[in-house]
Amino acid sequence: MHTDIERILFTESQIAQRVRELGEQISRDYERLLGDRIFHEPPIAVGLLRGAVIFLADLARAMRIPIELAFMAISSYGLSSSPGEVRVVKDLEISVAGRHILIVEDIVDTGQTLAHLQELLNARHPASVKVCALLNKTPRRARTVKLDYVGFTLTEDAFVVGYGLDYAERYRNLPYIAALKKSAITT
Ligand code: 5GP
Repeated sequence: MHTDIERILFTESQIAQRVRELGEQISRDYERLLGDRIFHEPPIAVGLLRGAVIFLADLARAMRIPIELAFMAISSYGLSSSPGEVRVVKDLEISVAGRHILIVEDIVDTGQTLAHLQELLNARHPASVKVCALLNKTPRRARTVKLDYVGFTLTEDAFVVGYGLDYAERYRNLPYIAALKKSAITT
């Protein structure tokens, strides 16, 4: 275990198992929703950079339906001071009008990032918008957001890293999800 880690919350094999289940569930739901149309207009999985990259890479391979991949980057800068704003650092390069979108998030905490992203994407008239979050961290939720698919729920307010999640750009490549030691957090 990495020396900055306090405790492992979800192991590599627990994550792999859950990702397989999610991939199966998502595939089944979109098959039901789209039928044969899935081959002409596959859903677009929109991953949020950079935290969702590792999750989406595994999730995409656990899906047995055609999907397209797209990425957005959103800055959390200013979220607490001006909750009406999100800054799109990298936008989609494709039109999503009439398309089925699956937002893939690393972690939903207050819910503000996701709520703003949903507003932004809905304004582009997609056929549907669903959300898949690796982690649903509930204690600080400030906005009501509907999560269609959740990997794991965290009921404690721990700061977690690994499997794509960072602290100051580090720990993203840890294969497990873990709580970071307080001593590793420099304020
Ligand atoms: P929200 O807008 O829901 O409060 O925050 C979502 C974003 O905050 C996530 O996409 C992530 O970047 C960051 N975040 C919230 N909680 C954690 C955490 O425990 N660990 C890490 N690494 N990032 C977090």
